[in-house]
Amino acid sequence: MSSIENMISLVRDHYSTDKFIPLHEPRFRGNEKKYLEETIDSTFVSSVGVFVDRFELMMQDITGASKAVAVVNGSASLQVALRLAGVKQNDEVITQALTFIATANAISYNGAIPVFLDVDLDTMGLSPKYLGEFLEEFGELREDGCYNKSTGRRIAACMPMHTFGFPVHLDELSALCNKWHIPLVEDAAESLGSLYKGKHTGTIGLIGGFSFNGNKVVTSGGGGAIITNSNELGTQAKYLTTTAKRPHAFEFFHDDLGYNFRMPNLNAALACAQLESLNDFLIDKRKLAEKYAVFFETEGIKFRQEIPDTKANYWLMCVELNDKKEREEFLTTTNAHGIMTRPIWNLMYRLPMYAHCQRDAQKNAEYLEERIVNIPSSAR
Ligand SMILES: *Cc1c(COP(=O)(O)O)cnc(C)c1O
Repeated sequence: MSSIENMISLVRDHYSTDKFIPLHEPRFRGNEKKYLEETIDSTFVSSVGVFVDRFELMMQDITGASKAVAVVNGSASLQVALRLAGVKQNDEVITQALTFIATANAISYNGAIPVFLDVDLDTMGLSPKYLGEFLEEFGELREDGCYNKSTGRRIAACMPMHTFGFPVHLDELSALCNKWHIPLVEDAAESLGSLYKGKHTGTIGLIGGFSFNGNKVVTSGGGGAIITNSNELGTQAKYLTTTAKRPHAFEFFHDDLGYNFRMPNLNAALACAQLESLNDFLIDKRKLAEKYAVFFETEGIKFRQEIPDTKANYWLMCVELNDKKEREEFLTTTNAHGIMTRPIWNLMYRLPMYAHCQRDAQKNAEYLEERIVNIPSSAR
Protein backbone atom coordinates (compact mmCIF):
# COMPACT_ATOMS: atom_id res chain seq x y z
CA MET A 1 0.00 0.00 0.00
CA SER A 2 1.67 3.23 -1.12
CA SER A 3 -0.26 5.33 1.39
CA ILE A 4 1.78 3.69 4.18
CA GLU A 5 4.99 4.67 2.42
CA ASN A 6 3.69 8.21 1.97
CA MET A 7 2.91 8.35 5.67
CA ILE A 8 6.42 7.19 6.54
CA SER A 9 7.83 10.08 4.47
CA LEU A 10 5.46 12.56 6.13
CA VAL A 11 6.57 11.47 9.62
CA ARG A 12 10.28 11.48 8.70
CA ASP A 13 9.88 14.92 7.15
CA HIS A 14 7.96 16.29 10.17
CA TYR A 15 10.60 15.18 12.67
CA SER A 16 13.50 15.69 10.19
CA THR A 17 15.23 12.43 11.03
CA ASP A 18 16.24 9.11 9.45
CA LYS A 19 16.48 7.45 12.88
CA PHE A 20 13.89 5.39 14.74
CA ILE A 21 10.79 7.47 15.55
CA PRO A 22 9.00 6.44 18.76
CA LEU A 23 5.31 6.89 19.52
CA HIS A 24 5.84 9.54 22.15
CA GLU A 25 9.06 10.85 23.65
CA PRO A 26 9.57 13.64 26.18
CA ARG A 27 11.25 16.95 25.32
CA PHE A 28 13.42 18.81 27.82
CA ARG A 29 14.17 22.25 26.49
CA GLY A 30 13.05 24.52 29.33
CA ASN A 31 14.03 24.82 32.98
CA GLU A 32 14.31 21.07 33.64
CA LYS A 33 18.05 20.97 34.36
CA LYS A 34 17.96 24.24 36.29
CA TYR A 35 15.18 23.09 38.62
CA LEU A 36 16.75 19.65 39.12
CA GLU A 37 20.05 21.26 40.05
CA GLU A 38 18.32 23.65 42.44
CA THR A 39 16.61 20.66 44.07
CA ILE A 40 19.85 18.72 44.51
CA ASP A 41 21.61 21.80 45.90
CA SER A 42 18.79 22.32 48.39
CA THR A 43 19.09 18.64 49.61
CA PHE A 44 15.27 18.49 49.53
CA VAL A 45 15.12 15.72 46.92
CA SER A 46 12.52 13.60 48.67
CA SER A 47 8.91 13.85 49.75
CA VAL A 48 8.64 17.51 50.70
CA GLY A 49 9.94 20.61 49.00
CA VAL A 50 9.12 23.80 47.19
CA PHE A 51 8.55 22.11 43.82
CA VAL A 52 5.89 19.78 45.21
CA ASP A 53 3.95 22.83 46.41
CA ARG A 54 4.59 24.72 43.18
CA PHE A 55 3.50 21.74 41.08
CA GLU A 56 0.21 21.51 42.97
CA LEU A 57 -0.47 25.23 42.45
CA MET A 58 0.38 24.96 38.75
CA MET A 59 -2.01 22.03 38.36
CA GLN A 60 -4.77 24.04 40.08
CA ASP A 61 -4.07 26.89 37.73
CA ILE A 62 -4.02 24.74 34.57
CA THR A 63 -7.11 22.68 35.39
CA GLY A 64 -9.10 25.25 37.33
CA ALA A 65 -9.65 22.70 40.11
CA SER A 66 -9.70 24.13 43.62
CA LYS A 67 -7.32 21.47 44.90
CA ALA A 68 -4.51 19.42 43.33
CA VAL A 69 -2.41 16.84 45.16
CA ALA A 70 0.88 15.51 43.79
CA VAL A 71 1.30 11.74 43.99
CA VAL A 72 3.82 9.11 42.98
CA ASN A 73 2.11 8.01 39.74
CA GLY A 74 -1.17 8.02 37.86
CA SER A 75 -2.16 4.57 39.09
CA ALA A 76 -1.93 5.76 42.72
CA SER A 77 -3.97 8.86 41.88
CA LEU A 78 -6.84 6.67 40.65
CA GLN A 79 -6.58 4.23 43.53
CA VAL A 80 -6.92 7.05 46.07
CA ALA A 81 -9.55 8.91 44.03
CA LEU A 82 -11.77 5.83 44.15
CA ARG A 83 -11.23 5.36 47.87
CA LEU A 84 -12.17 9.01 48.46
CA ALA A 85 -15.30 8.55 46.36
CA GLY A 86 -16.31 5.88 48.89
CA VAL A 87 -15.35 2.67 47.07
CA LYS A 88 -14.96 -0.25 49.48
CA GLN A 89 -14.26 -3.99 49.45
CA ASN A 90 -16.81 -5.92 47.32
CA ASP A 91 -18.30 -2.81 45.76
CA GLU A 92 -18.50 -2.51 41.99
CA VAL A 93 -17.12 0.26 39.80
CA ILE A 94 -18.35 0.82 36.25
CA THR A 95 -15.69 1.52 33.67
CA GLN A 96 -14.77 0.75 30.05
CA ALA A 97 -12.97 -2.39 28.82
CA LEU A 98 -11.17 -0.33 26.19
CA THR A 99 -8.53 1.19 28.46
CA PHE A 100 -5.04 0.81 29.85
CA ILE A 101 -4.70 -1.78 32.63
CA ALA A 102 -4.20 0.87 35.36
CA THR A 103 -7.88 1.90 35.23
CA ALA A 104 -9.09 -1.59 36.12
CA ASN A 105 -6.26 -2.23 38.58
CA ALA A 106 -7.11 0.92 40.56
CA ILE A 107 -10.56 -0.59 41.13
CA SER A 108 -9.09 -3.93 42.23
CA TYR A 109 -6.59 -2.27 44.62
CA ASN A 110 -9.64 -1.04 46.56
CA GLY A 111 -11.00 -4.59 46.75
CA ALA A 112 -13.75 -3.64 44.32
CA ILE A 113 -14.86 -5.35 41.09
CA PRO A 114 -14.99 -3.67 37.68
CA VAL A 115 -18.08 -3.82 35.48
CA PHE A 116 -17.16 -3.20 31.86
CA LEU A 117 -19.58 -1.22 29.70
CA ASP A 118 -19.20 -0.32 26.04
CA VAL A 119 -17.64 2.82 24.61
CA ASP A 120 -18.94 5.28 22.02
CA LEU A 121 -17.43 5.12 18.53
CA ASP A 122 -16.93 8.90 18.43
CA THR A 123 -15.05 9.31 21.75
CA MET A 124 -13.65 5.77 22.25
CA GLY A 125 -14.66 6.32 25.91
CA LEU A 126 -17.48 5.12 28.18
CA SER A 127 -20.85 5.47 26.46
CA PRO A 128 -23.77 7.25 28.17
CA LYS A 129 -26.14 5.20 26.00
CA TYR A 130 -24.85 1.89 27.32
CA LEU A 131 -24.45 3.20 30.88
CA GLY A 132 -28.11 4.28 30.78
CA GLU A 133 -29.25 0.93 29.40
CA PHE A 134 -27.24 -0.99 32.00
CA LEU A 135 -28.61 1.03 34.92
CA GLU A 136 -32.21 0.74 33.63
CA GLU A 137 -31.81 -3.03 33.49
CA PHE A 138 -29.72 -3.71 36.60
CA GLY A 139 -29.74 -0.58 38.77
CA GLU A 140 -31.71 -0.35 42.01
CA LEU A 141 -31.64 2.75 44.19
CA ARG A 142 -31.39 2.06 47.91
CA GLU A 143 -30.73 4.30 50.91
CA ASP A 144 -26.95 3.95 50.67
CA GLY A 145 -26.65 4.20 46.92
CA CYS A 146 -27.17 2.26 43.73
CA TYR A 147 -27.12 -1.55 43.69
CA ASN A 148 -26.61 -4.00 40.87
CA LYS A 149 -29.68 -6.27 40.95
CA SER A 150 -27.86 -9.11 39.19
CA THR A 151 -24.98 -9.35 41.68
CA GLY A 152 -26.40 -7.72 44.82
CA ARG A 153 -23.34 -5.50 45.06
CA ARG A 154 -23.25 -1.74 45.46
CA ILE A 155 -22.16 0.28 42.43
CA ALA A 156 -19.86 2.67 44.29
CA ALA A 157 -18.42 4.68 41.41
CA CYS A 158 -18.30 5.18 37.67
CA MET A 159 -14.87 5.84 36.13
CA PRO A 160 -14.74 6.76 32.44
CA MET A 161 -11.36 7.25 30.76
CA HIS A 162 -10.54 9.96 28.19
CA THR A 163 -8.94 7.72 25.59
CA PHE A 164 -5.73 9.18 24.11
CA GLY A 165 -6.87 12.61 25.35
CA PHE A 166 -10.27 12.67 23.59
CA PRO A 167 -12.87 13.69 26.21
CA VAL A 168 -15.90 11.42 26.79
CA HIS A 169 -19.49 12.73 26.79
CA LEU A 170 -19.20 14.08 30.33
CA ASP A 171 -22.54 15.94 30.64
CA GLU A 172 -24.53 12.86 29.73
CA LEU A 173 -22.47 10.56 31.96
CA SER A 174 -22.66 13.07 34.79
CA ALA A 175 -26.47 13.35 34.51
CA LEU A 176 -26.84 9.56 34.67
CA CYS A 177 -24.49 9.29 37.64
CA ASN A 178 -26.45 11.99 39.48
CA LYS A 179 -29.73 10.27 38.75
CA TRP A 180 -28.43 6.94 40.07
CA HIS A 181 -26.41 8.42 42.98
CA ILE A 182 -23.11 7.09 41.65
CA PRO A 183 -19.97 9.22 42.17
CA LEU A 184 -18.20 10.07 38.91
CA VAL A 185 -14.42 9.70 39.00
CA GLU A 186 -12.46 10.64 35.87
CA ASP A 187 -9.44 8.70 34.70
CA ALA A 188 -7.85 11.76 33.11
CA ALA A 189 -4.39 10.16 33.03
CA GLU A 190 -4.09 10.75 29.28
CA SER A 191 -5.94 14.05 29.03
CA LEU A 192 -3.85 16.85 30.54
CA GLY A 193 -4.73 19.86 28.37
CA SER A 194 -8.01 18.37 27.08
CA LEU A 195 -11.18 20.37 27.57
CA TYR A 196 -14.87 19.49 27.62
CA LYS A 197 -17.14 22.49 26.92
CA GLY A 198 -14.29 24.75 28.01
CA LYS A 199 -13.73 22.95 31.31
CA HIS A 200 -10.62 20.90 31.94
CA THR A 201 -11.12 17.14 31.97
CA GLY A 202 -10.93 15.74 35.49
CA THR A 203 -12.92 18.65 36.96
CA ILE A 204 -16.43 17.60 35.92
CA GLY A 205 -16.55 14.49 38.07
CA LEU A 206 -16.09 14.44 41.84
CA ILE A 207 -12.36 13.69 41.48
CA GLY A 208 -9.92 13.20 38.63
CA GLY A 209 -6.54 11.50 38.31
CA PHE A 210 -3.61 12.40 36.04
CA SER A 211 -0.37 10.69 35.09
CA PHE A 212 3.06 12.23 34.49
CA ASN A 213 4.70 9.04 33.28
CA GLY A 214 7.48 9.33 30.70
CA ASN A 215 5.18 8.73 27.73
CA LYS A 216 2.45 11.21 28.68
CA VAL A 217 2.03 14.79 27.35
CA VAL A 218 4.37 16.10 30.04
CA THR A 219 6.42 14.02 32.44
CA SER A 220 7.93 14.09 35.91
CA GLY A 221 9.79 10.85 35.24
CA GLY A 222 7.04 9.15 37.17
CA GLY A 223 4.22 10.98 38.87
CA GLY A 224 0.54 11.69 39.18
CA ALA A 225 -1.97 14.20 40.48
CA ILE A 226 -5.39 14.04 42.09
CA ILE A 227 -7.65 17.03 41.41
CA THR A 228 -11.00 17.96 42.88
CA ASN A 229 -13.25 20.94 43.43
CA SER A 230 -14.06 19.74 46.93
CA ASN A 231 -11.66 21.27 49.45
CA GLU A 232 -12.60 18.55 51.91
CA LEU A 233 -11.71 15.73 49.48
CA GLY A 234 -8.55 17.57 48.48
CA THR A 235 -7.42 17.78 52.10
CA GLN A 236 -8.28 14.09 52.55
CA ALA A 237 -6.30 13.22 49.41
CA LYS A 238 -3.20 14.95 50.75
CA TYR A 239 -3.65 13.33 54.15
CA LEU A 240 -4.12 9.77 52.87
CA THR A 241 -1.25 9.97 50.37
CA THR A 242 1.17 11.26 53.04
CA THR A 243 0.69 8.37 55.51
CA ALA A 244 -2.36 9.88 57.30
CA LYS A 245 -0.15 11.45 59.93
CA ARG A 246 -1.61 13.98 62.35
CA PRO A 247 0.38 17.22 62.08
CA HIS A 248 2.82 17.48 64.98
CA ALA A 249 6.36 18.77 65.42
CA PHE A 250 7.79 15.40 66.48
CA GLU A 251 5.07 12.86 67.31
CA PHE A 252 4.20 10.02 64.91
CA PHE A 253 0.48 9.51 65.21
CA HIS A 254 -1.43 8.10 62.22
CA ASP A 255 -5.19 7.74 62.51
CA ASP A 256 -6.10 6.03 59.22
CA LEU A 257 -4.58 3.51 56.82
CA GLY A 258 -2.67 5.95 54.63
CA TYR A 259 -0.15 5.46 51.87
CA ASN A 260 3.31 6.70 51.05
CA PHE A 261 2.20 7.94 47.64
CA ARG A 262 4.09 11.27 47.78
CA MET A 263 5.69 12.65 44.66
CA PRO A 264 9.39 13.28 45.43
CA ASN A 265 10.49 16.91 45.13
CA LEU A 266 13.05 15.80 42.52
CA ASN A 267 10.23 14.60 40.27
CA ALA A 268 8.13 17.67 41.05
CA ALA A 269 11.04 19.86 39.89
CA LEU A 270 10.96 18.13 36.51
CA ALA A 271 7.15 18.36 36.44
CA CYS A 272 7.18 22.13 37.06
CA ALA A 273 9.58 22.75 34.20
CA GLN A 274 7.51 20.49 31.94
CA LEU A 275 4.23 22.20 32.85
CA GLU A 276 5.81 25.52 31.81
CA SER A 277 6.15 23.97 28.32
CA LEU A 278 2.71 22.36 28.23
CA ASN A 279 1.16 24.99 25.99
CA ASP A 280 3.99 24.85 23.47
CA PHE A 281 3.75 21.05 23.36
CA LEU A 282 -0.01 21.22 22.82
CA ILE A 283 0.37 23.75 19.99
CA ASP A 284 3.05 21.66 18.28
CA LYS A 285 1.05 18.43 18.64
CA ARG A 286 -2.01 20.15 17.18
CA LYS A 287 0.06 21.20 14.14
CA LEU A 288 1.01 17.58 13.56
CA ALA A 289 -2.62 16.53 14.01
CA GLU A 290 -3.66 19.02 11.33
CA LYS A 291 -0.95 17.70 9.00
CA TYR A 292 -2.09 14.11 9.60
CA ALA A 293 -5.74 15.08 9.08
CA VAL A 294 -5.08 16.57 5.65
CA PHE A 295 -2.81 13.69 4.63
CA PHE A 296 -5.05 10.81 5.72
CA GLU A 297 -8.10 12.49 4.18
CA THR A 298 -6.43 12.37 0.75
CA GLU A 299 -5.32 8.76 1.37
CA GLY A 300 -8.83 7.67 2.38
CA ILE A 301 -7.75 6.56 5.86
CA LYS A 302 -9.71 7.65 8.93
CA PHE A 303 -7.67 9.87 11.27
CA ARG A 304 -9.35 10.33 14.67
CA GLN A 305 -10.12 13.95 15.53
CA GLU A 306 -11.74 15.85 18.38
CA ILE A 307 -15.53 16.10 18.31
CA PRO A 308 -17.70 19.22 18.81
CA ASP A 309 -17.69 20.74 22.34
CA THR A 310 -14.27 19.23 23.07
CA LYS A 311 -10.64 20.19 22.73
CA ALA A 312 -8.29 17.20 22.64
CA ASN A 313 -4.65 17.34 23.71
CA TYR A 314 -3.77 14.90 20.89
CA TRP A 315 -1.66 12.92 23.32
CA LEU A 316 -1.48 9.78 21.18
CA MET A 317 -2.84 10.26 17.70
CA CYS A 318 -4.44 7.36 15.89
CA VAL A 319 -5.88 6.08 12.67
CA GLU A 320 -8.79 3.70 12.23
CA LEU A 321 -8.07 1.05 9.58
CA ASN A 322 -10.84 -0.79 7.74
CA ASP A 323 -10.18 -4.23 9.20
CA LYS A 324 -7.70 -6.45 11.03
CA LYS A 325 -5.83 -7.36 7.85
CA GLU A 326 -5.21 -3.73 6.90
CA ARG A 327 -4.17 -3.06 10.47
CA GLU A 328 -1.56 -5.84 10.39
CA GLU A 329 -0.11 -4.52 7.15
CA PHE A 330 0.05 -0.97 8.55
CA LEU A 331 1.73 -2.13 11.77
CA THR A 332 4.22 -4.40 10.03
CA THR A 333 5.30 -1.93 7.36
CA THR A 334 5.66 1.12 9.60
CA ASN A 335 7.54 -0.71 12.36
CA ALA A 336 9.83 -2.37 9.80
CA HIS A 337 10.73 1.14 8.59
CA GLY A 338 11.60 2.43 12.06
CA ILE A 339 8.33 4.31 12.53
CA MET A 340 6.79 3.09 15.75
CA THR A 341 3.07 2.32 15.61
CA ARG A 342 1.03 0.24 18.05
CA PRO A 343 -2.44 -1.30 18.20
CA ILE A 344 -4.88 -0.11 20.86
CA TRP A 345 -5.00 -2.17 24.09
CA ASN A 346 -6.48 -5.62 24.42
CA LEU A 347 -9.90 -5.25 26.04
CA MET A 348 -9.74 -5.77 29.79
CA TYR A 349 -11.89 -8.94 29.78
CA ARG A 350 -9.33 -10.67 27.55
CA LEU A 351 -6.92 -10.56 30.50
CA PRO A 352 -7.04 -13.40 33.05
CA MET A 353 -7.69 -11.11 36.06
CA TYR A 354 -10.75 -9.55 34.48
CA ALA A 355 -12.15 -12.37 32.32
CA HIS A 356 -14.91 -13.13 34.84
CA CYS A 357 -16.19 -9.53 35.22
CA GLN A 358 -19.70 -8.53 34.21
CA ARG A 359 -19.88 -6.74 30.85
CA ASP A 360 -22.35 -5.74 28.17
CA ALA A 361 -22.23 -6.55 24.43
CA GLN A 362 -19.02 -4.51 23.76
CA LYS A 363 -19.86 -4.07 20.08
CA ASN A 364 -18.04 -0.73 19.72
CA ALA A 365 -15.08 -1.68 21.91
CA GLU A 366 -14.47 -4.82 19.84
CA TYR A 367 -14.85 -2.86 16.61
CA LEU A 368 -12.21 -0.33 17.72
CA GLU A 369 -9.96 -3.01 19.21
CA GLU A 370 -9.47 -4.47 15.72
CA ARG A 371 -8.89 -1.18 13.92
CA ILE A 372 -7.23 1.54 15.99
CA VAL A 373 -3.49 2.10 15.64
CA ASN A 374 -1.42 4.79 17.38
CA ILE A 375 1.07 6.72 15.27
CA PRO A 376 4.01 8.94 16.23
CA SER A 377 2.69 11.89 18.23
CA SER A 378 5.58 13.62 20.05
CA ALA A 379 5.98 17.35 20.07
CA ARG A 380 9.08 18.36 18.12
C1 LIG B 1 -0.83 6.22 32.03
C2 LIG B 1 -2.18 5.81 32.49
C3 LIG B 1 -2.48 5.53 33.85
C4 LIG B 1 -1.49 5.36 34.92
O1 LIG B 1 -0.48 6.17 35.02
P1 LIG B 1 0.94 5.76 35.65
O2 LIG B 1 1.52 7.08 35.97
O3 LIG B 1 1.67 5.03 34.58
O4 LIG B 1 0.70 4.93 36.85
C5 LIG B 1 -3.79 5.29 34.20
N1 LIG B 1 -4.76 5.25 33.29
C6 LIG B 1 -4.53 5.45 31.98
C7 LIG B 1 -5.66 5.39 31.03
C8 LIG B 1 -3.23 5.72 31.53
O5 LIG B 1 -3.00 5.88 30.23
